Amino acid sequence: MFSQSSKGLARTNILRRLKSTLVVAEHNNETLNPVTLNTISAAKKIAGDDVTVLVAGTKCGSVSEAVAKVPGVAKVLVAENEAFKGFTAESLTPLVVAAQSQFKFTHILAGATAFGKNVLPRVAAKLDVSPISEITDVKSEDTFVRTIYAGNAVLTLKSKDPIKVITVRGTNFEAAPAEGGSAAVEQAPAGDYKSDLSEFVSQELTKSDRPELTAAKVIISGGRGLKSGDNFKLLYDLADKFGAAVGASRAAVDAGYVANDLQIGQTGKIVAPELYVAVGISGAIQHLAGMKDSKTIVAINKDPEAPIFQVADIGLVADLFKAVPELTQKL
Ligand SMILES: Cc1cc2nc3c(=O)[nH]c(=O)nc-3n(C[C@H](O)[C@H](O)[C@H](O)COP(=O)(O)OP(=O)(O)OC[C@H]3O[C@@H](n4cnc5c(N)ncnc54)[C@H](O)[C@@H]3O)c2cc1C
Repeated sequence: MFSQSSKGLARTNILRRLKSTLVVAEHNNETLNPVTLNTISAAKKIAGDDVTVLVAGTKCGSVSEAVAKVPGVAKVLVAENEAFKGFTAESLTPLVVAAQSQFKFTHILAGATAFGKNVLPRVAAKLDVSPISEITDVKSEDTFVRTIYAGNAVLTLKSKDPIKVITVRGTNFEAAPAEGGSAAVEQAPAGDYKSDLSEFVSQELTKSDRPELTAAKVIISGGRGLKSGDNFKLLYDLADKFGAAVGASRAAVDAGYVANDLQIGQTGKIVAPELYVAVGISGAIQHLAGMKDSKTIVAINKDPEAPIFQVADIGLVADLFKAVPELTQKL
């Protein structure tokens, strides 16, 4: 027979066991990608402070140490193996599935980045459940919010799958604090995770002193109105005044003005900085889908009818070739 208090405790434990989340950390073996902190917040909204984080890589000790300090993380599972070089979905999936099988996680989450969008659909397929993509809110343990039609409709979905495999839109969840916790660090299930299906060969990464677009507090973004790649220098000069990142519309990317990792929008990056300055961008819905959650939006466009002014907090109807250098000079 349980006493009243031990009954209560047992019930709490059972409820906890009913919901236990696994967050798959994104990192480069040295530092944690900040989106993992946002994903941990989403996981906490589902299961309270019973979040396990999986850190898989080659030599990722500093990352697992960092994750262990995040308040609300109960356990860190570490897997170091040459097979995880390049973080391919084919090598990581059996590890995630083995961890799920051992610890019976009810929810598996990762950021809705190239990494998460690569790994988690494969995990979902192996677990024979539907992936739940890019959630923007958690209503309950089985009900989630996401946007559809390029952000024009908001969908609330209830998943009946026994295991929910979820990618999380980082900009919709506050980052969990990086310090204050002390989680236990354990080895993840061992196994031969080398895959015959794919092999990591190499990668070329863009090196930039500017903040990463999805983590930047200020973004100066340019569109077709810039007219050439050389003219983007105007935006880089302005960005230097703010320590800002530079982004672009798809039209600017397609025209070859800038590299496509700068693209913001439905088929580019989703950002929500404190300040977003749209220069020579008309404000097509596919662009708005990637930046309309920015705290303050400033638009510079010579066309007063440009749709960007409908979402802008501050609008300047002006020729950008005059207005931007003036602004840079005055700052
Ligand atoms: C499936 C799909 C997905 C897409 N995904 C994306 C996406 O992820 N991101 C995205 O951005 N787009 C996306 N698009 C494209 C989108 O529909 C628009 O074509 C694109 O956003 C337009 O880019 P823009 O505003 O730079 O160009 P335009 O629409 O050509 O606008 C240029 C603006 O510059 C202004 N301008 C010109 N000269 C000056 C000047 N001298 N001074 C001031 N203003 C000036 C003009 O008034 C105009 O408003 C997608 C489209 C499709 C169909």
